Amino acid sequence: MMEDILKLKASLQSPKEVVILSHRNPDGDAIGSSMAMRQFLESFGHNVSVIFPSEFPANFEFLPGVFRSHIYDLDPAVCKEKIGKAEAIFCLDFNALDRIDKLGEDVQFSQALKVMIDHHLDPEPFADIVISIPEASSTCELIYKVIDEMGFSYKINPQIGECLFTGLMTDTGSFRYSTTSYTYQVASALKRGGVDDYELANKIFNSQKEKHLRILGHCLANRMEILDDCGLGIMWLTKQDYVDHNIQRGDTEGIVNYLLLMDKVKVGVLVLEQPSIIKLSLRSKGDISVQEIASKHFNGGGHKNASGGGVYASLQDVIAKVKKIIPPILNSH
Ligand code: 5GP
Ligand code: MN
Repeated sequence: MMEDILKLKASLQSPKEVVILSHRNPDGDAIGSSMAMRQFLESFGHNVSVIFPSEFPANFEFLPGVFRSHIYDLDPAVCKEKIGKAEAIFCLDFNALDRIDKLGEDVQFSQALKVMIDHHLDPEPFADIVISIPEASSTCELIYKVIDEMGFSYKINPQIGECLFTGLMTDTGSFRYSTTSYTYQVASALKRGGVDDYELANKIFNSQKEKHLRILGHCLANRMEILDDCGLGIMWLTKQDYVDHNIQRGDTEGIVNYLLLMDKVKVGVLVLEQPSIIKLSLRSKGDISVQEIASKHFNGGGHKNASGGGVYASLQDVIAKVKKIIPPILNSH
């Protein structure tokens, strides 16, 4: 790890064409880590472009530099050109090329120096420099660590701090899970450095549209089933729900977590009937690994307690599969 950090430090010496990439449906950690890394690298004179495969949620638009990002779904030619010209590519908050859609191929065949900084389980071996720590709360925490260990923590100004704090706060559910004592150390250093955490939380969390709460209400009232015996909670949304509630990408963010508010629920699954694929979001408490379930049964992955996947099948079949596969796992725990 230290060796990789020193290699990274050495490669940053001369200005370069740099691309920062993060995963589709970017969340607070993906956006925060990308914006922080961009500002950090720009301070050395690098020419940096940030690319996301798909659009970002509106509640992160306030982060410095977000509007300078390129979105592959909206502007594929520009994104491909940037990757083609890149001398260094930073892969932040993802560790599998299928998380960046079609851009995965461009990254795979690029001759650029590839740097992975990530905290998901089971990294794919596509990067030259790999800083992969699944125990880290967030990619933002890892970026703080990397900057600090390179001896550049004085470069973390309040703007970079705000971006990093965003990833810490969102990936830990406001410091409720995935934390270590180091997470709080980083949070403390960032706050000391000028981050207004109260204002930040207000901008990120108290920014939902009425529609979001209506969709949540619909799920809680009409689209929820609890299997009491084993502690499995399931919610789902049909194609018709997408039409009736005008549900767009990102509108279902966070819904699955409501299942875990019940003491009796140990695993929560949200099943979404999207246009061509059924998407799953899985969450668990304690020792049960939904990452294993997602990678083994639903072409996905993620973290032990938060993972996702996708399958090409009918909504009914996927719900049936969830009900068949997960109860025995729960019962054996
Ligand atoms: P969410 O349920 O919020 O979409 O995703 C939760 C976690 O699972 C995220 O950390 C994400 O990286 C991971 N994840 C979600 N969907 C997929 C997927 O299709 N493949 C993989 N490998 N991971 C996923
Ligand atoms: Mn993350």
